[in-house]
Amino acid sequence: MVRKKVKAVLFGPQGCGKGTQGNLLSDRLGVPLIGAGELFRSEITAGSQLGKLVQDYVSSGTLAPDELVNAVVANQLKRLDLTRGYVLDGYPRNIEQANYLDRLTKVNLAIYLKISDQEAVRRLSGRLQCSACKFVFHETESPPAKPGICSICGGKLYRRDDDTEDVIRRRLAAFHFMTEPMATYYRQRGVLLQVNAEQSIPYVFQDIMKKIIKLGFFA
Ligand SMILES: [Zn+2]
Repeated sequence: MVRKKVKAVLFGPQGCGKGTQGNLLSDRLGVPLIGAGELFRSEITAGSQLGKLVQDYVSSGTLAPDELVNAVVANQLKRLDLTRGYVLDGYPRNIEQANYLDRLTKVNLAIYLKISDQEAVRRLSGRLQCSACKFVFHETESPPAKPGICSICGGKLYRRDDDTEDVIRRRLAAFHFMTEPMATYYRQRGVLLQVNAEQSIPYVFQDIMKKIIKLGFFA
């Protein structure tokens, strides 16, 4: 039973298992999981002025400025029912955005899924995705039964272009520079919950739940 409304943000470097933990959390707590990507897609689909601006950034592959990202989030959050609480994934990505979000809706839990760069590279560089059903395997963690073939649909497996060590390292550097300072920001606000995300999925989730219960969010 939820005692205190959870208004959570989830962050961590690529490969930290954010998506998986986000889903587990939203199921267990009975609150919606809100992905930043979805918010952007809805704005684009709506065909609004904002959506058109976002579309330009998405198609050019450049990072949208904070003002635009914040405006989309504000606009989309207004349309959602947040009365039961929420888990937000993929936003905020820097302190500016974290600050803005706090003015929209005061975050009371910031979950930082921490893994080392070495572990992130290990996890990401071994990924093999199915060209047909998009399922993701891992060379050593969860290999397909037959090499190169999807165990689910029989499709061909491939390594994504952005999963090379070079690209991964660059993204990790961006995370440390841009996003990681949010840990300090939320720690100062007294809402940081840092978890060792190098453990297996159930252990990471257990750690999060233990801490959440301690904080009085859930019983
Ligand atoms: Zn497949």
